[in-house]
Amino acid sequence: MTEHHIVFIGGGPRTAMILERISANRSLLEDTALHLHVVDPFPAGAGRIWREDQSPLLKLNSRAADVSMFTDDSVQCLGPARPGPALDQWVQLIRDGQLPDVPALLETDPLLRAEVVGLASGDFPTRRLQSCYLRWFFARVQASFTAPDTIEVHQDTAVDLLPGQRTHRVILASGEEILADQVVLVQGHLDAASDADERTAQLAAHAAGSDHLGYIAPGYTNDIDFQDLTAGTEALVSGMGLAFTDLFVLLFEGRGGRFEPTESEALEYIPSGQEPKLLVGSRRGVPYHSKIRSSTIAPLTSAYLTEEAIIQLHRQHGELDFFAHIWPLIAKETGFFYYRELFSAHREHVKGSWADFHAAYDSVSWYSPERSSLIAEFVPPEHRLEFEQLEFPLPVPRPLRAELAGAQLDAMVRSHIEEDLRLRDSPDHSQFQALFFGLLRSFVTLPLVHELLSQEGRTQLASWWPGFFSFVDSGPPAHRLHELLALHRAGFIKFLGPETSFGFDDEQQSFRAETLAGPIHAPWLIEARLPTTGISTSNDPLLASLLRRGLITEEPGGSGKMHITSLRQVIGRDSKIYRWLFATGAGVGRFQAGAFSRPHANSAPFADSDALARELLSAPKTMSGWELAGSIAEHHRSIA
Ligand SMILES: Cc1cc2nc3c(=O)[nH]c(=O)nc-3n(C[C@H](O)[C@H](O)[C@H](O)COP(=O)(O)OP(=O)(O)OC[C@H]3O[C@@H](n4cnc5c(N)ncnc54)[C@H](O)[C@@H]3O)c2cc1C
Repeated sequence: MTEHHIVFIGGGPRTAMILERISANRSLLEDTALHLHVVDPFPAGAGRIWREDQSPLLKLNSRAADVSMFTDDSVQCLGPARPGPALDQWVQLIRDGQLPDVPALLETDPLLRAEVVGLASGDFPTRRLQSCYLRWFFARVQASFTAPDTIEVHQDTAVDLLPGQRTHRVILASGEEILADQVVLVQGHLDAASDADERTAQLAAHAAGSDHLGYIAPGYTNDIDFQDLTAGTEALVSGMGLAFTDLFVLLFEGRGGRFEPTESEALEYIPSGQEPKLLVGSRRGVPYHSKIRSSTIAPLTSAYLTEEAIIQLHRQHGELDFFAHIWPLIAKETGFFYYRELFSAHREHVKGSWADFHAAYDSVSWYSPERSSLIAEFVPPEHRLEFEQLEFPLPVPRPLRAELAGAQLDAMVRSHIEEDLRLRDSPDHSQFQALFFGLLRSFVTLPLVHELLSQEGRTQLASWWPGFFSFVDSGPPAHRLHELLALHRAGFIKFLGPETSFGFDDEQQSFRAETLAGPIHAPWLIEARLPTTGISTSNDPLLASLLRRGLITEEPGGSGKMHITSLRQVIGRDSKIYRWLFATGAGVGRFQAGAFSRPHANSAPFADSDALARELLSAPKTMSGWELAGSIAEHHRSIA
């Protein structure tokens, strides 16, 4: 029996999912003892983002019913489905006393215990509860590997990887070395090196040289120390995405403030006396669209963004462009979901019948005058779907009246959030839920599309789609927006509006926001976002070493992400493919499927993890052939 060692660098949810798929597909590799190693300084299964040791106020961005680590029959993958409980079902099993291996923390931690007692399927769980689910899942996967297989966790950081002829050495910060036949880089979101970006370094230098200025560079909010941001201090905040939500949770409720219900739906903020004052703006000027409360009644079946349609486009055009070929199809598909629901559930908002509308809709393309006329005929303006308006919802009237401009922008943002909540935090506008599903369905199709895109098309997809998708489909739970409005009413948050940019004012020696109403100054600047880190700008020592030695390279197109093959093998200098070195996750190129998955939705991460697991198990059998081919190629190069 041969021995085969696979080392995973990173032990977050993605690694846990791949390990489960290795277990499910284990029979692919016969007569071999499989030795799996997981390296991560944070607890395996949860990793850094989902570790239990974090604020109990931070929440998952999905409902408990929408998070599962288990495959089901909906998943289109070659390996066998191995069903198991989604997060809400898992909690129910605990409540019913049906889960034999309840994590100890759930018995001893009063906050988690209370959460388990009260959690409903539609609730947004805390990250700490998700941490318990992930670690329980990991332990279960671990137990599924039995002798002669082993799985070992190394609570450490990988700092280098030295390739050998057949086996490779993974070097850990502690000095320990692990021998590997295959290595999988699953390092998730990477932190940026402090000198990675000149602008950030300069802003930090301004703050460092002063005793009253403060600057927070992009980072994972939970890991940032805000102690020096004292009560009453004004801070400009750049960014209104999910990092901003974490920020206001930690700075207000996290410092002892609380929200109380009022007679209306609005919340009242009761201060702790420790509040800073946040002046927040961004390119769009508004937070991500709220999560949606309604349920759809119309069927959610694809009509336009189908495999056949994509293959047909490919036959017609060859390599595809994302904006010219794919986006119009996504728009039409999502529009179809939206209007079918509008005609089915809210007939009072439309004129004419679905049958007539559908017959005409079928033959028009999304970006055509015919589509505009059709919608104008059947749907009044307030119920029409326009993606451009959805993406930039705050058209600012120009010119603004100078003396009122700041207050006007602030009020516009507030009204937008109120309207967003009216439409999305209500059971009465299910067309937005259908819109949500339309985009989600498109997301699942994108791995197929990616392979058929031109380089330019891939760059378009990578640079635009994730931001747009997150803005519309991955916004905060509605209660966070209610909290934001309460903080705004209490005077602790002010909105600066869209098209705001941030920098330092040398003359005034303070940070400056350039808003549509003119400049605003404050002693602090907080960049509320994750760093957009590529492999050459990350602070990870392993990646720095691999890059220096040419084992990894950036993918073409300027994303800064790692270049890999469609089999997720790393492509090094001179286009050399390392067939034993794999990579997946946020810092890696090609289309990335994300991590958490909805049950019964053929979610992309499952199929993606299954394919990688099968590749890992199949590769050893063909390894020697590849190595032979590799060494022949190398021989030819050396004599050429
Ligand atoms: C703040 C935040 C909130 C999020 N919220 C959600 C959400 O609500 N829902 C959702 O679906 N997704 C969310 N995400 C997306 C997130 O990417 C996924 O949920 C998931 O964590 C990705 O899993 P992963 O294993 O690929 O990466 P990660 O979870 O990032 O795990 C990667 C692991 O690799 C380890 N690592 C990195 N380098 C090394 C090294 N050199 N040596 C050893 N270990 C190393 C890290 O310590 C880390 O534990 C969120 C992301 C962030 C940053």
